[in-house]
Amino acid sequence: MRNGSLPRTWQVSGPQCGDNPQFQVQEYNRDLYIFRESGCANYEKPFLYLLFGKEKAFLLDTGAGKTEVARTVRSQIHEWLGRNNRESIPLIVAHTHAHNDHISGDAQLKALPHTTVVEPKTSAVQAFFGFRNWPAEVVTYDLGSRVLDMIPIPGHEASSIAIYDRQTGILFTGDSLYPGRLYVEDPSAFALSIQRLVDFSQGKIVTHLLGNHIEQTRTAYLDYPMGTIYQPDEHELQLGRAHLLELNDALRRMNGKVVRMAFRDFTIWPE
Ligand SMILES: [Zn+2]
Ligand SMILES: [Zn+2]
Repeated sequence: MRNGSLPRTWQVSGPQCGDNPQFQVQEYNRDLYIFRESGCANYEKPFLYLLFGKEKAFLLDTGAGKTEVARTVRSQIHEWLGRNNRESIPLIVAHTHAHNDHISGDAQLKALPHTTVVEPKTSAVQAFFGFRNWPAEVVTYDLGSRVLDMIPIPGHEASSIAIYDRQTGILFTGDSLYPGRLYVEDPSAFALSIQRLVDFSQGKIVTHLLGNHIEQTRTAYLDYPMGTIYQPDEHELQLGRAHLLELNDALRRMNGKVVRMAFRDFTIWPE
């Protein structure tokens, strides 16, 4: 298992918005980069992930609002190419799900050379990754000596997927599990998806669960109000598999009737 580093705290945007950068770039390791969008660019402050295999680079999500995301991604790829004595590498752009705060940079990315953007639609995701039995089936996608497991988890949104990176043991959970408000669009699909994610991860090394947002404070059970830009005491990004078990246990107890319920590190929030 290849490890890496996460910051103790992410840079915060504010209290005043000046000329701070649109993205904080965290090198988890030499082949995985985390971009955190600034609250000054968009209050959603989403996280984006850039993974490198031997044959392909893979960008998960393109952010919220208007930013220069393509420039940020391109300069990181450029740096990687230089370090690896390579001329170019194809870039695949996919999404945790289709909500606006994770696809806003798609048009910019499409304009980059050697780049394929998977349309944020269930049918396009199925076709690109080769799902034939959605959502029950887990398929693999190989970046070149780096295999990703793609796990359909509809419920927060119909095209939601989780991704397990076998190289680092990270499980990317999108908006379906992160330290914040877990908005549930389709309760029964969501409960089934979380159960499948538990089953999938059973017996596997899961180093971190990395989601798309932080809305929780460092105070147990307390989240920031919706739309907060400046979060000086925010919860850390990473969760563990225990949080997944806690979420699954709660959904099972709710037995089909999903209600709003706060937990130490997240809140279940039916829409
Ligand atoms: Zn979402
Ligand atoms: Zn989101």
